Amino acid sequence: MLNIVLFGPPGAGKGTQSQKIIEKYKLQYLATGDMLRAAIREQSPIGVEAQKYIDKGQLVPDEMVINLIARELDNHHDVHGFVFDGFPRTTVQAKKLDEMLDAKKAPITIMLALEVDYNELLARLLNRGKMSDRSDDQDEGIIRGRLDIYNKTTLPVMDYYKAQGKYRGVNGMGAIDEVFERICQVIDSCR
Ligand code: ADP
Repeated sequence: MLNIVLFGPPGAGKGTQSQKIIEKYKLQYLATGDMLRAAIREQSPIGVEAQKYIDKGQLVPDEMVINLIARELDNHHDVHGFVFDGFPRTTVQAKKLDEMLDAKKAPITIMLALEVDYNELLARLLNRGKMSDRSDDQDEGIIRGRLDIYNKTTLPVMDYYKAQGKYRGVNGMGAIDEVFERICQVIDSCR
């Protein structure tokens, strides 16, 4: 199995690059942000609860996303591997993911961290807000808040994977295909 955590701040290009990775390497995509937005559209109990946090740009409680991921891991057997986008975002989530994957004897292979300058992230998210109806991309204050939460709460996840020797930094600046090329080089070097 090839299990990849695609890591990086909001606006780093995780969603875009994930699509290219799953197509090339035939992997299953698991994105907690997409799962939560689907739950909000359905107005399921999880969606109603999650919306309160997402609209404010806050992280939803760990337990909520861990349960979503657990369910999806159980739903997908016989896959070549997974790409995790937007998960784990806290060290609690990272530890839990390791436990779940250990039980399947299919640990994380690498954590790919997309690195993009702060001002570029801000510009991309403001631009995405103009083109989509994502509630959390509409307001510069909320966007800056999400970037702050990333720096404070999510960055430690990087150290978690560094300690396991699984962290790989990738320059996320430049054209989509250029970044994808860099990603493929890293993936191919560790298979
Ligand atoms: P982005 O990375 O561009 O902010 P996502 O779609 O990954 O977009 O996430 C959108 C929002 O969903 C986050 O700001 C957060 O509120 C919530 N969310 C997604 N994944 C997680 C997670 N693993 N833990 C907690 N909250 C999450």
